[in-house]
Amino acid sequence: MMLSKQILGAATALAGVLAGGVGHAQATLRPDQVAFRALYKELVETDTSITTGSCTLLADKVEKHLRAAGYTDADITRFAVPEFPREGGLVVVLPGTSKVLKPILLLGHLDVVVARREDWSRDPYTLIEEGGYFYGRGASDMKAMDAIWIDLMSRLKTDGTKLKRTLKLALTCGEETSTAFNGAKWLSQNRRDLINAEFALNEGGGGRTDGKGKLVTESLHVGEKTPVNFRIEATNPGGHSSIPIRDNAIYELADALIKVRALEFPLQLNDTTRVYFAKVGAARGDDLGKAMITLTTAQPGSAEFTAAEALVNTDRSYHSLLRTTCVATLLDGGHANNALPQRAGANINCRIFPGVPAEQVRLALLAAIADPRMTVKRTDERGPDAKAPPLDAKITGPAEKMVVKYYPGVPLVPGMSTGATDGVFLEAVGIPSYGPPGLYGDPDGNGAHGLNERAIVKAVYTGRDFLDELVMDYASH
Ligand SMILES: [Zn+2]
Repeated sequence: MMLSKQILGAATALAGVLAGGVGHAQATLRPDQVAFRALYKELVETDTSITTGSCTLLADKVEKHLRAAGYTDADITRFAVPEFPREGGLVVVLPGTSKVLKPILLLGHLDVVVARREDWSRDPYTLIEEGGYFYGRGASDMKAMDAIWIDLMSRLKTDGTKLKRTLKLALTCGEETSTAFNGAKWLSQNRRDLINAEFALNEGGGGRTDGKGKLVTESLHVGEKTPVNFRIEATNPGGHSSIPIRDNAIYELADALIKVRALEFPLQLNDTTRVYFAKVGAARGDDLGKAMITLTTAQPGSAEFTAAEALVNTDRSYHSLLRTTCVATLLDGGHANNALPQRAGANINCRIFPGVPAEQVRLALLAAIADPRMTVKRTDERGPDAKAPPLDAKITGPAEKMVVKYYPGVPLVPGMSTGATDGVFLEAVGIPSYGPPGLYGDPDGNGAHGLNERAIVKAVYTGRDFLDELVMDYASH
């Protein structure tokens, strides 16, 4: 996924406020970093796009690494379904010593968004290090984190390190393509036992630079909105356009769309967004920042609160973080120039606030349209309704500690995503999912999903040390 808008917002807000002192030339690599770099290179150089690639092939390669590190059949589970032979994945388990503490699940998607050689400046499936960046499809989304997870699991096994908690790693396919076989969804629904964990660590968190190499904020990703599509449609017997009547499917749809445009869902805050608005508001220090804080302190419904909400709503990212949103994204209607339309419809793309059932949003659309001739139907079932995981001190405490150690002076902000990750499938089966801080990128999103995707070399190495230590900390109590 692309890192969420509000995290970019935080980066902008905090730019220049605090110095991270990172992003300079890479020193000589340690032996463990040389091995890690080779693994990362192998991951990026194995095409896992839906069109020309294979997650199964990459899972084969990862399995070889894990076996070389000492894992056996008892620890490794491969999974795939016959209809999607190239979209398989892998789960590996490193048993812990504690009989009472529950496991931790590390999650990573192996697949990448399609990249065409002719569009890129360099070969997308060759890892190229240049000017302080690693270039290649998946370099940032999300093969750096995949490599960190695989490398950590391998070293812990080779070194014989005993952790209290069991560590599990699930590498899946299908995150980037809604029509693909989604491994995280499949595991949640079919192998809940295998991935059972107290919580999961996934993509979605991480830091942002000021665009000139200086890290300005780190984010812990906690929860996300649910994307749901609805089709609103008007139907009509139609007829010859030379004898029109006012009852017309296109006009009905147009009237309905005007009502959808006016529909504003009520403001909502949860633990994560409350802390987010307070922290980012304080860092901004401007009128908008003050209004953000007011949303976390004033009585909802008071004049002060309402005025603050109006100001905060002027920022489209903040506006979206505060509520469910629905917007028209596709339109169709009619069948001939000289015929009255028999059908007119639109796709309404909603981003639903965690905890709000999709059916409630459908009913809100129906009520807003208030026209019995119009239907509102949900058209996709990407996954379950998102639930917000708790902003738990057990998760935030060690994350705060690592940020102080690795990135002194850089604030850690919890962030709810307006976009979507595979974490939603885990949350649906009772495994809270978090995107840890540690890695970081540039405010433009580092070309993830786009052209010339890249990762900051120093961010990958420092982020690896950060995440290794963070996971070991979580696994030790
Ligand atoms: Zn991703």
